[in-house]
Amino acid sequence: MKHDDNCINEFDSSALDEDKALSKIIKSIKPIKKTERISIKDSYDRILAENIKAKINLPSFNNSAMDGYAVNIKNLIKNNYVLNECSVSLAGRAFHGKLEDGKTVRVMTGAVIPNNADAVVMKEMVNIKKEIITFNKNIKKNQNIRFIGEDVKKNTVIFKKYNQLSHPRVAVLASLGIKNVKVLKKPVISFFSTGDELVDINKKIKKGQIYDSNRYLLRGLLEKFPVTIKDAGVVIDNENKIINKFKKLTKESDLIITTGGVSVGDADYIKDALQKIGSINFWKISIKPGRPLAFGTIGSSYFFGLPGNPVSTSVTFDLFVKPAIYKILSQKKRTGIIIKASLVGSLRKKKGRVEYKRGILFKEKDKYYVKVSGLQGSNILSSLSIANCYIKLGMDTENLTESSIVDTMPFEVSHEK
Ligand code: AMP
Ligand code: MG
Repeated sequence: MKHDDNCINEFDSSALDEDKALSKIIKSIKPIKKTERISIKDSYDRILAENIKAKINLPSFNNSAMDGYAVNIKNLIKNNYVLNECSVSLAGRAFHGKLEDGKTVRVMTGAVIPNNADAVVMKEMVNIKKEIITFNKNIKKNQNIRFIGEDVKKNTVIFKKYNQLSHPRVAVLASLGIKNVKVLKKPVISFFSTGDELVDINKKIKKGQIYDSNRYLLRGLLEKFPVTIKDAGVVIDNENKIINKFKKLTKESDLIITTGGVSVGDADYIKDALQKIGSINFWKISIKPGRPLAFGTIGSSYFFGLPGNPVSTSVTFDLFVKPAIYKILSQKKRTGIIIKASLVGSLRKKKGRVEYKRGILFKEKDKYYVKVSGLQGSNILSSLSIANCYIKLGMDTENLTESSIVDTMPFEVSHEK
């Protein structure tokens, strides 16, 4: 009998706690050290392998925050707010002279502020008659001036080793004139599906066969990380074939992920294969879905054997593989946010394990609500596909009634590339 999440005995005292399993995994992983120097154009989402020091100030000169008129406040009192426009300073085409008494220089946003000017009056605040500029607002010293170094000071470490380069950070690098950065090499992550019933989407299926969806799920999950993804296809339920695949993949992968075949069913060969060529733990974890999980090493690669049911694959990836990848990339633990929400409808739940239901979280009149997104079987991919969060139900939680307050974990919004 298979001990996936439909097993009769819901409570299993030998099952391992989710947190314990995760800390065992994290402890045993060593971050990668290999680095490379790349153009910032290719650096989005990559992990820095050096501190970045600013070699210039940002901005590197005092400039105007507005289109307007550069003035000297002392002058204003003397001249009763009436000035002659004497020149123009454009962004990229500066007026380098000194501001003379009784005069003003028209400045555009981003243009150099003339020497001895100490405020800019917005264009919209002035009256212009012929060459005479008049205004009557109170002018404060330094108004509308962007000062040298106010964004980034020269010689400060702006980003540290192991910071991830989001697109605003890459933009900061560009604004500092930095062309190349040293980053961690992308770890190679290979995956394959196991199962005699699996068919590639290019072929027709016969009764008893299914299309392999897990490789598409995994690719999508992995694309959110700065890693090289290798799809190693489908391997049938045959010990030797699985062993050969592992032998090939371990030469080129930092991490290998498989789906299916980790239970104790008649066709679950991952365990037998790994006992011969790897050092692996097989755990029953006290979560639903995703109870069977394998983790260990094959040669120099780390290995995760995830359960075959697609929703279980997704949940175990989120709970265990994701933090493992972050550790490989020297990233500190990243915790998702938890939003407390009022349950719409009731929920079935047995004591003895943590459950991750798939839910739809929404807000109405400043209050959060959540409802399940459809059938909750670990094979029901469609309800995962319309969910925007997990509903996390604790070990001791039992059946829940309408309006119970539950913890929801919103899915990350995938970032733009
Ligand atoms: P297993 O873990 O191999 O016992 O598989 C559990 C369930 O997940 C079975 O119903 C499988 O047919 C299904 N399954 C396994 N691998 C995949 C896959 N790659 N894509 C879709 N379903 C799968
Ligand atoms: Mg199978």
